[in-house]
Amino acid sequence: MDDLQFGTRDKRGNWTPNARLEIAPFWTGRFENLGRWLIAYIWPHNTIFMAVTLAYWYLVLPPMEVMQTLSWTWMLKLHIVNSLGIFLLFGSIELFYYIRRKQGTRFKYNARFPKENPSDVFWFKSQNIDNFLRTFLFSVPLWTLIESVTLWAFANGWSHAVDPSQHWIWLAVLVLLAPAIHEIHFFCGHWLIHRGVLYKWIHSIHHNSINPSPWSSLSMHPVEAAFFFSEMAWHLLLPSAPFVAMFQLTSTAYGAIVGHIGFDKLEITEGQAVDSHAYAHYLHHKYFEVNYGGDGLIPLDKWFGTWHDGTKAADEQMMERFRRKKERLAAKAGKTTPAK
Ligand SMILES: [Zn+2]
Ligand SMILES: [Zn+2]
Repeated sequence: MDDLQFGTRDKRGNWTPNARLEIAPFWTGRFENLGRWLIAYIWPHNTIFMAVTLAYWYLVLPPMEVMQTLSWTWMLKLHIVNSLGIFLLFGSIELFYYIRRKQGTRFKYNARFPKENPSDVFWFKSQNIDNFLRTFLFSVPLWTLIESVTLWAFANGWSHAVDPSQHWIWLAVLVLLAPAIHEIHFFCGHWLIHRGVLYKWIHSIHHNSINPSPWSSLSMHPVEAAFFFSEMAWHLLLPSAPFVAMFQLTSTAYGAIVGHIGFDKLEITEGQAVDSHAYAHYLHHKYFEVNYGGDGLIPLDKWFGTWHDGTKAADEQMMERFRRKKERLAAKAGKTTPAK
């Protein structure tokens, strides 16, 4: 496909989409876009996450009575499936788009591939090896642990679970709201770990990948990973059900790849491509202090002034915000610097 019909490429080869990022239309009153937005909300990402959750529910998880006891048997099986699932999903996108480079740099925001930039900040100077190891040494085990403990709590009745046969309408609504719960949980924790020493000690590890690729998705400090996956526990507090909690966590774990794909569209055939929805989080990796949340389902970034929609105007607003912050910090340190 000709990516220049959808965006522009600079001298360095970096590609930028023409379309600006839009928050969900019900916040802006642009209801004429609602149909298109709803289809994109359901297909393909959330439909795939639902299919994966159903597969876990029927093929991987034991009956609730078995999960009343934390035992290696079912936890290890769950861990093997989680590891394999991530290996297959992230690994196949890595294989086709980063190793075989099936679409070259078409629709790729950053013209370079992580392999071309060895750096001391990574284990073995390699972003890929570092990110891969952190994913499987810390993040996936923490995911399994939090998942198992939450299911164990449900199995023992330590929740506000409701009966699905009686409250199925509410549970269906809650499934539709799961991405909103994710966005609020993720925004708050993510914003917090961008402050001071929390950034230095915890979140800088994730941000070492300025040019993210699939393995960057779950490459986090264990504290960040624990927070990231703990959003499943909201379903112990809400009137919910274990299946909805599983959908929440499955979408979060597998969905982590969405912002780290690095391409705006993934070409499937010659003339067909799917939108990756990666741009909002790509801009976060590029500029650090914008787009702490997702792509505007609950537009917390818009409300708190940190939204970057990819346009030149948003660039200018961001630079102005950085300049003001610099002045504030300088004033705090007792020396005022003149505005540039
Ligand atoms: Zn990221
Ligand atoms: Zn961040």
